[in-house]
Amino acid sequence: MDSPECQHLYMDIQEFFEGLNMKVEQQVPLLLVERQALNEALEAEKSGHHLPETRGLCLSEEQIVRTILKRPTIGPGNRIMDMITGPYKLVRRCEVTAILILYGLPRLQTGSILAHEMMHAYLRLKGYRSLSPQVEEGICQVLSHLWLESEIIAGASGNAASSSASSSSSSAAPTSSKKGAKTEFEKKLGAFIKNQIETDSSVEYGDGFRAGIQAVEQYGLRSTLDHMRLTGSFPY
Ligand SMILES: [Zn+2]
Repeated sequence: MDSPECQHLYMDIQEFFEGLNMKVEQQVPLLLVERQALNEALEAEKSGHHLPETRGLCLSEEQIVRTILKRPTIGPGNRIMDMITGPYKLVRRCEVTAILILYGLPRLQTGSILAHEMMHAYLRLKGYRSLSPQVEEGICQVLSHLWLESEIIAGASGNAASSSASSSSSSAAPTSSKKGAKTEFEKKLGAFIKNQIETDSSVEYGDGFRAGIQAVEQYGLRSTLDHMRLTGSFPY
């Protein structure tokens, strides 16, 4: 995804959070960045509450990030020919200065990372303090999973007309900017990413997700969040 496509996706995900009654009030800039810029931003985040996430980051420090301004052309051998990046100065108005996402991933993958990072932003802006990494990453993965599920459902319903239309045009880029997983590729990718979240073997992301989704299924998202705010842990 490049920047304009991604802003569209960002609005979809903001709507998704609003639909869950979890509106993120502040306008948090979303920047697409290259691997190196993502690593540098992570380095510069002095506060210790970050696990080294490899494809996205919710920033709270003021810093200058090199973001991708224009879609690069891909030359022979899949080499990037003319990547234009520019400095973007982050100003701190609240607890979160920006969300950074690795450039160039497919829509559903970008969205799943974005939903995860949006949840970090939400927790920070709403003053959820002292969550253990397992609880924080777990609930962020839950939101990522919920968003993927909503996309897969949106893609499955009301898809008959569009699938016949899209099959006549020789399968173009699999990055539709519409809601829902439309193509076979997107359906498979969506299922794959969901499965990755469910079966992750790490304590923070995997065990955290499994505890989080169980709590949400049993008590609902709102009660789970309220309980987390009071106790720092999932209800069980
Ligand atoms: Zn995270």
